[in-house]
Amino acid sequence: MSSVSFRRLEKSYGAVRIVKGIDLEIADREFVVLVGPSGCGKSTTLRMLAGLESISGGEIRIGERVVNRLPPRERDIAMVFQDYALYPHKTVYENMAFSLKVRGVAADEIGKRIAEAADMLGIGQLLDRRPSQLSGGQRQRVAMGRAIVRRPQVFLFDEPLSNLDAKLRGQVRTEIKRLHQAVGTTIIYVTHDQVEAMTLADRIVILKGGEIEQVGTPDEVYNAPASVFVGGFIGSPAMNFAPGTIRGGRVVLEGGAEIALDRAALRADAAEGRAVVVGIRPEHFVPAGEGAEVAGTVQVVEPLGADTLVHFTLGKATLTARLAPDMRPAPGETLSIGINPSRIRLFDAQTERALH
Ligand code: ADP
Ligand code: MG
Repeated sequence: MSSVSFRRLEKSYGAVRIVKGIDLEIADREFVVLVGPSGCGKSTTLRMLAGLESISGGEIRIGERVVNRLPPRERDIAMVFQDYALYPHKTVYENMAFSLKVRGVAADEIGKRIAEAADMLGIGQLLDRRPSQLSGGQRQRVAMGRAIVRRPQVFLFDEPLSNLDAKLRGQVRTEIKRLHQAVGTTIIYVTHDQVEAMTLADRIVILKGGEIEQVGTPDEVYNAPASVFVGGFIGSPAMNFAPGTIRGGRVVLEGGAEIALDRAALRADAAEGRAVVVGIRPEHFVPAGEGAEVAGTVQVVEPLGADTLVHFTLGKATLTARLAPDMRPAPGETLSIGINPSRIRLFDAQTERALH
């Protein structure tokens, strides 16, 4: 088990900078999820850590060792990919045994480790099959088993659930969390899916264009997004955003509507006349009479069973509120609704960074 550290980590392909100076300290036994849109440099970062890609600058440490130039097999990490990468002509047992054999581990020790991992993953009855005789979910479990038997310092996962259907994705996700609780090894996990990031991570690292946008616990990035980008990326439906101006303790939105701010929101830098973006999560609307009152025009109503999504216009902005299931306003109706004032976030209109 081991800590991992990136210092000013860089990657360029030719003149194109892909990873732009990442600084990150990952603690021993921590589960860290790198999340961000496609192309933001997640896989490249993971592959540099694994030694599958050279680095263009900076430093990578695993534990106390600088591994910048160490070949992959000397880094003592195991990687699980989206496409499983199993050997098609080997059985499940042989797939799991292969890397141990290469390292000269004794046959009875190999047998013991495979039995243990197979038990943990519920694949004991599949050991004689070949990958073509397995379902997608079973293949993914075998790929994880192959990583577990190596007892590496660090596990790396690159979008391991992408090829599974929705139901299986949920199941295997739970298994990965259980695996981490059972073996306690450091895990660095890459995904573009914010639900995976929120449910699995001790800490989430949100990447945008090869740079870290925010690092925090799931609660921190959800409750106090550092930027409009993070607020829009974490949470579903996404955080609502509306541009406006601070006037007399309120935000006057484009198109005329106003949102009253509480004292906490009116921090020192929410100065009179400042151009801001207001951020409100759909679940932070409350019944009329509680909180900052607004009145919008209902556009579309989506009943979801457990709750109702109401899309409405407020000034020029279109917002979404997640309301109680019995709330069924009609399109065109005026929706009078409150906003929990302590949950309103303000961002600078130019930089799109949160006001502190
Ligand atoms: P992610 O995993 O976040 O979707 P990647 O790390 O795979 O993104 O890729 C980041 C960027 O680097 C992309 O724009 C991709 O096109 C580019 N890239 C990745 N590998 C190479 C390569 N071998 N040569 C040139 N560009 C690459
Ligand atoms: Mg990728």
